[in-house]
Amino acid sequence: MIYLNGKLVPEKKALVSVFDHGFLYGDGIYETLRAYKGTVFMIDEHIERLFRSASMIGLVLPQGHDGIKKVVYQTIKANKHKEAYVRITVSRGPGPLGLDPALCPEPTFVIISKKFTDYPGSYYQKGVNITIVNTRRNYKKALDPKIKSLNFLNNILAKRESIEKGAYEAIMLNHRGYIAEGTISNIFFLKKNVLCTPATGVGILDGITRRLILDAARKLGIKVNEGRFRPEDVYSADEVFISNTTMEVMPVSEIDDKKAGTKCTVTKQLHKAYRKKVKEYIKKAGGA
Ligand code: PLP
Repeated sequence: MIYLNGKLVPEKKALVSVFDHGFLYGDGIYETLRAYKGTVFMIDEHIERLFRSASMIGLVLPQGHDGIKKVVYQTIKANKHKEAYVRITVSRGPGPLGLDPALCPEPTFVIISKKFTDYPGSYYQKGVNITIVNTRRNYKKALDPKIKSLNFLNNILAKRESIEKGAYEAIMLNHRGYIAEGTISNIFFLKKNVLCTPATGVGILDGITRRLILDAARKLGIKVNEGRFRPEDVYSADEVFISNTTMEVMPVSEIDDKKAGTKCTVTKQLHKAYRKKVKEYIKKAGGA
């Protein structure tokens, strides 16, 4: 079942107009969440970020924070999902052709819940390969990566490059050549026992997973450096990993044919801390 504009409807009936400005112009926003044992992890933070994205594009959401939370749970329950991938999509809605958002009086609001299938275990045991691509991350004064926008061509062009090279994830640099982020992930690396990750000012999406990893690192006494880094810094790192809501902490074994650190000691330590946080959160929420 799909939640569409106030109702749960079967997938085949969950249809959106060809005049929807999300379809015509990529005018809209989204969030990806993950449910564990029926509890949606960090749901408040994701909804807050949805509101931030909405406000950055001048979109008024059809429901408040608590209302959205309620319908997210309704959707996963209607599908009897415990382990789920949940996507909230809000587009500007249907309206006549033309860019003016005022042409669209009602946004389109969709929640999809899909059964979560685990990533192959080998990804976590051996790590994935990534590549630094030529496509630059959107310049933040043009389209700020902080907006989790439906306008995804920047990421898709980068992804096409990584597919061509047989790499699992593409890492984009910002307009100045500093490491920014992946197409759907943030990047971290360990250098001389310091955990490094691009600062938000570089022009990235401030991942919710990223924030939790930084908190966990600080609690474990690991030094953290949110800064500006060049590809050489990552190429010569001792450990590299990528993160997002669904993959959590994913070790990287190879970056542009250069072997990344194979031990992944700190990566594994941080993943363990992250899992612990998930467990505590579920326990506190008491299930759905
Ligand atoms: N960066 C980009 C471009 C993303 O699309 C995502 C997630 O989809 C992330 C980073 C990681 O964000 P989060 O940890 O909140 O899932």
